[in-house]
Amino acid sequence: MTQSIQPQHMVTRFAPSPTGRLHLGHAWSALMAHDMAHAHGGAFRLRIEDIDGTRSRPDHVAGIVEDLRWLGISWDGEIVFQSARLDHYDAALARLREMGLLYPCFCTRADIAASASAPHGPEGPVYPGSCRGLDEAARESRIAAGTPHAWRIDMARAVERAGPTAWNALPFPLESAAMATAVRADPIAAGDVVLARKDAPASYHLSCTLDDAAMGVTHVLRGDDLYAATHIHRLIQALLDLPSPAYIHHPLLMGADGKRLAKRDGSIALADLRMQGMDPRRLADDLRAARFPIGISLGKA
Ligand code: GLU
Repeated sequence: MTQSIQPQHMVTRFAPSPTGRLHLGHAWSALMAHDMAHAHGGAFRLRIEDIDGTRSRPDHVAGIVEDLRWLGISWDGEIVFQSARLDHYDAALARLREMGLLYPCFCTRADIAASASAPHGPEGPVYPGSCRGLDEAARESRIAAGTPHAWRIDMARAVERAGPTAWNALPFPLESAAMATAVRADPIAAGDVVLARKDAPASYHLSCTLDDAAMGVTHVLRGDDLYAATHIHRLIQALLDLPSPAYIHHPLLMGADGKRLAKRDGSIALADLRMQGMDPRRLADDLRAARFPIGISLGKA
């Protein structure tokens, strides 16, 4: 199946987690999503993924807004804060629970790591399914006792219910004549992923998928580190009757050590570059032309 781009309706987004300041990798990704929407007469939206209570910080939200403005990136509409959308996540979780696709998981990280059978999937260790087989009485008594628990999706059941699904993948960089190719969603390898965390009302997979739909995002441009996540997001869309945007996965910026840039690499934080007197317009031009500082390069797509 192929499908051409529908430029007149293009909506892209940038969705940082406020767990640190933006670095050059974020800046490049945000610029690409911003420019892609503008090149097609579309809209670019900003979403702050701030429901990770242990790592999200309000001062980082302010920092992200400041960094984007400094770089000359503006967005359409209001900023969407995930922390203001918890009711929507709850409603979706209730629907999935009614479908019999979720189960509470009481395992600790240590329990999962200790499970000798835990294989590695695209998203890290695959949950061995220990809590899937608990009976209703055991679940209820543990919940009633206040045992901390996450909610996991029964992946095999969910895939069976959703039936075959595919997403439209577009190449990066996006040329106007680009045609989408259908990629079959195959989330089984990820195992029973968490949709509601012990310490957060929804997992990234659930909140991101719901929000992209609610914001009318037509084209998700994000790093190819999230390719495996797209399989899961497509499944969630199918289960909840959500529209499926086209996905474009871009390569990641790599540091001199051959590893992807991370927030820990303070030297490439936009805030630091600004402090050093860098001209933001020149920086934006350089990033657009894929001219990166010495030692930084684009990884393979
Ligand atoms: N908050 C996620 C991140 O910063 C966003 C991922 C996405 O674009 O879907 O990695």
